[in-house]
Amino acid sequence: MRTLRLGDFGTDVMELQATLLKTNYDPGPVDGIFGQRMARAVMRVQRNYGLVPDGVVGAATYRALERYLLGYDAYTVRRGDTFYSIARRYYTTPALIAAANPGVNPNTLQIGQRITAPYGFNVVDTNIKYTYDILARDIQGLRARYPFLETGSAGKSLLGRDLTYLRLGTGERQVFYNGVHHALEWITAPLLMKFIEEFSKAYALGTTLSRGYNPRELWRGSSIYILPMVNPDGADLVLNGLRADNPEYQNLLRWNNGSADFSAVWQANNRGVDLNHNYNAAWQSSKDAEAAYGVTGPGPTRYSGTAPESEPEARAVAEFTRSRDFRLVIAYHSQGRVIYWNFMDMAPPEGKTIGEAFAAATGYTLDQTSGIASYAGYKDWFIQRYRRPGYTFEVGLGRNPVPLAQFDRIYRENLEAMLLAAVI
Ligand SMILES: [Zn+2]
Repeated sequence: MRTLRLGDFGTDVMELQATLLKTNYDPGPVDGIFGQRMARAVMRVQRNYGLVPDGVVGAATYRALERYLLGYDAYTVRRGDTFYSIARRYYTTPALIAAANPGVNPNTLQIGQRITAPYGFNVVDTNIKYTYDILARDIQGLRARYPFLETGSAGKSLLGRDLTYLRLGTGERQVFYNGVHHALEWITAPLLMKFIEEFSKAYALGTTLSRGYNPRELWRGSSIYILPMVNPDGADLVLNGLRADNPEYQNLLRWNNGSADFSAVWQANNRGVDLNHNYNAAWQSSKDAEAAYGVTGPGPTRYSGTAPESEPEARAVAEFTRSRDFRLVIAYHSQGRVIYWNFMDMAPPEGKTIGEAFAAATGYTLDQTSGIASYAGYKDWFIQRYRRPGYTFEVGLGRNPVPLAQFDRIYRENLEAMLLAAVI
């Protein structure tokens, strides 16, 4: 964590702003720029925690804020405490405290006992540029609040970042949703993370998420595996820029046509390979089509790599798929408000029927891909290898990256489909 002060800007500033906003410290607009109002908000936090109110986020202030970033606190039980009194202190409910502390009996709380106290606000922010660091913190926060969540790593990215997956449910009906094969399409990560948070909360409380779906029933019958960010290195290039210590620094500049600005063009991983052209499904056709698109080697988009699964991210996702028994998969992309369901006529008959149900639930168009986009993608490979339903969902509309202003609508459009896919 770097020290943050007036005039600084970046995704870390933006994350802090969102956190100050939801904890009622009024930082001003959530725009990633550390302004006067944010400095005053930080001073108020500092006074509340007995720190020097200088408006600078250094190590001590960050430690004070970290519980809010994570969405929970390690709480030490005091004399007379009950789940109810602790819930009031954290603006949450006794039921959510119980969910975060499955082994703790509320009737036998001991003074000095440590418990996890979740805050009343959501962990996953959907009004910020969603980086890998934020994802990692959110996963930590959700695990603490909902210890019934299973998480694990499907492998590592080129730069060694964990490709973390989460699992909702324990049932036999396994499905798999993934996001951010393409770096510019990082909005698909908070989409999936928001779903995980809402689902976990509904499961913990026994409430309903969407008409006709009972999360506890779904939990027993299905296992929804979610890998929110397949391409964390690419997303980091788009959101945080090229870091001086990047081992491919010079190459990346060259592959990006000499530009240090990756924010509007870069879809690939850190080796200039388009991960959604790196799967073993008509991979050679994808390769052969590169020239027609002016692709001659590593670059921002459409380079298929040197061989199928040459990239650790694609290999990890394929291996994750091979080691389980998914009856259906969805790869989340942006944009277009369209759902692709077929690959070279290999989709099973129900592929189209289920696709029609998804189209009805989302309001998106059901379509088939053509040209280079129709080769060597994840859903292509899944359909070819398993002859089971596989989909690409293109969420949002306009140019990538799809603006955050579309998030709420995207979530609303996709919530039912994400539930439906697990039971259909
Ligand atoms: Zn895409």
